[in-house]
Amino acid sequence: MDDDMNRTMRAFRLDGRVAVITGAGSGLGREAARVFAEAGASLVLVDIDTDGMERTAVLCNDAAATIETVDISDRGAVDDLADRVIAAAGRLDAWINCAGIGYMHPLFATDAERAAKVVAVNMMGAFWCCAAAGRVMRERGGGAIVNISSGGGSAPVPGVSIYGMTKAGVNSLTWTSAAELGPYGIRVNAVAPGWIETPMSSLMYRDERGEVDPARRQALIDHMEQVSPLGIIGEPADIAYALLYFASDAARFITGQVLNVTGGAAHG
Ligand code: NAP
Repeated sequence: MDDDMNRTMRAFRLDGRVAVITGAGSGLGREAARVFAEAGASLVLVDIDTDGMERTAVLCNDAAATIETVDISDRGAVDDLADRVIAAAGRLDAWINCAGIGYMHPLFATDAERAAKVVAVNMMGAFWCCAAAGRVMRERGGGAIVNISSGGGSAPVPGVSIYGMTKAGVNSLTWTSAAELGPYGIRVNAVAPGWIETPMSSLMYRDERGEVDPARRQALIDHMEQVSPLGIIGEPADIAYALLYFASDAARFITGQVLNVTGGAAHG
């Protein structure tokens, strides 16, 4: 019984494995780093926010956490990063794509420069990361890539427009990459979170000056609780555990899936 139990728990662990986590300087990426460290992984934290990653590394306690300040929308920089990971660690087992930027505006109020940035980071950034991770994992015989999509990538949500469009692209990227990389032992899945309170998602209750509007915040939380059949809102750990599952051997027979982690709500 003990052996069976240990085998089961081992399937969810990442001892001796190397995981890259983008967006690790804040929010869901930071929590993913903490959870992956607890699961035994060595971490490569990636973000444009170096101070944020240093705070994340402290949360990861003893896990070897390397900090890489890289803009994921820069294809060359992402390729170099993948090569550096292999040169330094000799392996790459999991690549978790959490980096992203938020943008909530109606169609007619979309700023062209900001829209291009959202596409470059959320969609093309994830694309370059999948390509770079796939390239080095293929050479090493396998691995797991996990993208972060959004409930808004597959459901109609007013105001989500360009952001939701990029996440629909991430869903497509997940399906295509899974089909292309599967023969090399590489699994590609995505987690689509509902609304989880982070610096990014606080955009939804900030006023025009960027200040938190407590009444709007409470109204949003009340709404999110109502649309979940469970009557609760999610926490960063709820997303991190789903990311860990996809990264681990427990999901060895799963690829090309987009998992809604929304408390049963149709979208976040
Ligand atoms: P967050 O707290 O803002 O964290 C995102 C991190 O990514 C930040 O540290 C950000 O740095 C970094 N980043 C931005 N552009 C980058 C770039 N070009 N290269 C590298 N790093 C970059 O947001 P979050 O809520 O944790 O979001 C994480 C992911 O989950 C995103 O893909 C988001 O779309 C998705 N998501 C979140 C929710 C939610 O409710 N929170 C729901 C659905 C999906 P800066 O802060 O300096 O920009």
